Amino acid sequence: MAPAAPVPGTGSGPGPNPDPDPDAGSGPVRDPLPDPLRDPWRDAMRLALDEADAAGPAGDVPVGAVVLGPDGKVLARAHNEREAAGDPTAHAEVLALRRAAAATGEWRLTGCTLVVTLEPCVMCAGALVQSRVERVVFGALDEKAGAAGSLWDLVRDRRLNHRPEVIHGVLGEECARQLTAFFRDR
Ligand SMILES: [Zn+2]
Repeated sequence: MAPAAPVPGTGSGPGPNPDPDPDAGSGPVRDPLPDPLRDPWRDAMRLALDEADAAGPAGDVPVGAVVLGPDGKVLARAHNEREAAGDPTAHAEVLALRRAAAATGEWRLTGCTLVVTLEPCVMCAGALVQSRVERVVFGALDEKAGAAGSLWDLVRDRRLNHRPEVIHGVLGEECARQLTAFFRDR
């Protein structure tokens, strides 16, 4: 049979060929491979990145955190307010956990997930264990002070009776870039 006329519905008349170019994947920009472990947390990490932006005006290191309920809905969001509040404990994670607990009326955040742009420090890792969150998701590693795998692994210490699941590297490069830009521009 001779080739048929153009198949209807594949384009809107004359113009660029809508068919994908078989060579399109050979350029410098490629879609990353699907990552079933990290991809589900990308949207929440974008919220955390937006939240981190709000820390800048007060001179706070841009770290943002979001707490998701068991159903995936956003319960709370917070950014680092150490400078803004003059409070050494006002890290994004601690503030987000407090706000999530206030929103639910319950200190136990069973089934919840905390998503944060930077690996938690020792204080925040402790607060995460205390809050009984089910999962901690973070973006950039903090090799100088991280307590979720880098320098310590407090959240997964076998001596503790509650150990949240840890997923790292969600939008990790973006999270690291945001921090690098802050320190470069100071
Ligand atoms: Zn912290």
